[in-house]
Amino acid sequence: RAKEQGRNTYQFYTEGMQEREVMRLELDKDLSQALTNDEFVLFYQPQLNLDTGEIQSVEALIRWQHPRRGLLPPGEFIPLAEESGRITDIGRWVVMAACRQLADWKGTEQEGLRIAVNLSGRELDDEALVDHIREALEAENVPAERLEFELTEEIFIQNIERNRNQLSRLQKLGVHLAIDDFGVGYSSLGYLRDFPVDVLKIDRSFITEVTERHDDAVITRAVINLAHNLDIQVVAEGVETEEQLAFLKRHRCNFAQGYLISRPIPARDLEQALASGILVAGLAEGSSL
Ligand code: C2E
Ligand code: MG
Ligand code: MG
Ligand code: MG
Repeated sequence: RAKEQGRNTYQFYTEGMQEREVMRLELDKDLSQALTNDEFVLFYQPQLNLDTGEIQSVEALIRWQHPRRGLLPPGEFIPLAEESGRITDIGRWVVMAACRQLADWKGTEQEGLRIAVNLSGRELDDEALVDHIREALEAENVPAERLEFELTEEIFIQNIERNRNQLSRLQKLGVHLAIDDFGVGYSSLGYLRDFPVDVLKIDRSFITEVTERHDDAVITRAVINLAHNLDIQVVAEGVETEEQLAFLKRHRCNFAQGYLISRPIPARDLEQALASGILVAGLAEGSSL
């Protein structure tokens, strides 16, 4: 009886696995067409400068307008693209699209905004990455300081020498460098000394209960102080309440990003929100996701 049960459990498991594998293969096939069919789109999530009350930067967050499944968030395809290596070409598209957007914003209300682009560790494998970024900036005639790259702490755990080299080339190019999801990455703090970091983004998991949990408050304050003493600016991720915002202001955090200020929204919506002033007031609904 136990044996039977065991077998059934096993079969159930393999069927589920097969189904997932089929879906994965199908998604990978669709992904191979997505660039040619121009199915990716960048949404932008503003970062509020807590000193000036202005939006100074926006984070570019990719979405995939899938022909049958609708708008897909990055969690549904970026890990797959990292496995297959397609992330290199997708990343190049993201950099190009961000530069084009910055060029489009010249002479408008959005002039001077910085765009932060996410780079996964896998993208640093590409030896031509920095050259490609330089070419994209030149093609659109955009100054390098308008771009920021967000990297997670994983890059300080593996391929450290190679990554150090890539980061120093990026720094020489003049783009800003941010550490994303800071505090959850299992890496040592030594890299803050050894690598050229401009910005720390405190992971959302510390912010969610920062006004309710003493330990989260202590950690958040400590990170802000650590960063400031190293001449690094701090962004809080996942700010959803006025109380969290007040806490962050009180403790001199530099920027807040989260649903309270705005969800990630299409460029058009961002332009409208900035023009009408609702972003500065604190709440832009816009599209979901
Ligand atoms: P991330 O860079 O840490 O981005 C923050 C994520 O948190 C985004 O999810 C954003 O929509 C979400 N978020 C922002 N504010 C709030 C909030 O107040 N509450 C909650 N619950 N969530 C909030 P999204 O857009 O689904 O992106 C997920 C991840 O996908 C990103 O995490 C980033 O690691 C990756 N990603 C996004 N775009 C790209 C890209 O162009 N290239 C690469 N390599 N990765 C990307
Ligand atoms: Mg990010
Ligand atoms: Mg993050
Ligand atoms: Mg994250």
